[in-house]
Amino acid sequence: MSKTLQIEVDPLLCANQERRIVGELEYGQLTRIQDDVEPSSGSIKADLTFSRIRKFVVLTGRISSNLVLQCAACLESMDFPVDIEIKLAVINNESFLSLIPDGYEPCLIEGDRLTISSVVEDELVLVLPDIARHAVCPVELPSSSASKDFVLGTEEKKNPFEALKSLKKN
Ligand SMILES: [Zn+2]
Repeated sequence: MSKTLQIEVDPLLCANQERRIVGELEYGQLTRIQDDVEPSSGSIKADLTFSRIRKFVVLTGRISSNLVLQCAACLESMDFPVDIEIKLAVINNESFLSLIPDGYEPCLIEGDRLTISSVVEDELVLVLPDIARHAVCPVELPSSSASKDFVLGTEEKKNPFEALKSLKKN
């Protein structure tokens, strides 16, 4: 039913035709971020249009999905909605990096073909957190991790309110 984004296109030809690409990417089709998201994640929708600005091929549109990640603290699932505005300038030579139109991010490709699903996954990699974690976990954490001796990493920051509390006591 849905149109897959696993297609390879000629960006220059697409730009000249102002081609619009609308499609979806399912969990099973992910190659780069499959390990980072849960299988219950919603499909990734993209609505992208090729056009030209000066000599540049640009790709604009949106990528959206209701991804599900696993919380590193409680290991429960965590909703992670994404809605990314895309403004890419497609280049195949790094020497054009400094010339791309204002407000556009470079999308460096090898050769003269561009795989839409790769572009979509690359954009998602940029917004996924290094460590997914609920602001407030929905379940109580095991007592071992809730005990006061438990230290999360070595760079646990001191609670600034602790200092305030001791000031007030005096
Ligand atoms: Zn959690």
